[in-house]
Amino acid sequence: MAEVRETVSGVDQGKQQQPKPPYGHLSVVCGPMFAGKTTETLKRILWAKNGRGQDIRVYKPAFDQRYARLQIVSHEGLAADAEAVHDWDARTAEIIDAGVAVVFFDEVQFFEAPNFTSDILQIIEELLAAGVDVVCSGLDMDWQGKPFPIIAHMAAKADEVHKLRGVCTVCGRPSTKTYKKTGSGGQIEIGGSELYESRCTIHWAVPDLELTPDLFHGR
Ligand SMILES: [Zn+2]
Repeated sequence: MAEVRETVSGVDQGKQQQPKPPYGHLSVVCGPMFAGKTTETLKRILWAKNGRGQDIRVYKPAFDQRYARLQIVSHEGLAADAEAVHDWDARTAEIIDAGVAVVFFDEVQFFEAPNFTSDILQIIEELLAAGVDVVCSGLDMDWQGKPFPIIAHMAAKADEVHKLRGVCTVCGRPSTKTYKKTGSGGQIEIGGSELYESRCTIHWAVPDLELTPDLFHGR
């Protein structure tokens, strides 16, 4: 038993001595729908919180109410508490004053007007400059293949980009695009598998094309 106590006390001391970094680490988790972005983000949240004992905050856009108002939930049932925000107010100062180690922004591509009243890019810059790590996750492209500006900007600046791929619903090869079954409507229309599929670039561009090995080489 003495040995166990020693180990536990050693871990605690390690945490207390951890110096605050002078500049935060920026990670981006992105990809099409159904590629496992939420699962990857939740793994990182649970590891930071439970594995490393870090103080964290999780934010998501307030208009997104697909599953639960104040949680992000993966298809596998992993969950973490999140705050749905529309007005940022004085949160940057509160986060820095509280010594928060990591801030997560889920569905970061939607942190813009009219859903969000502040400048998310500036908020992230300020957090990083104060030594807070930031993890942004979200869709990299809309269903028409156009990059979402916020995540494109963040991916360019990131220390680490984890681009996830799904499985094409037509051919089963790795997919990087989100295909909209109706093929119409605006850039943002909240929906699940009734409206969207994850597809490889070829089946996103030409839905019914039969593939030969030649057509698909190297993709
Ligand atoms: Zn395909």
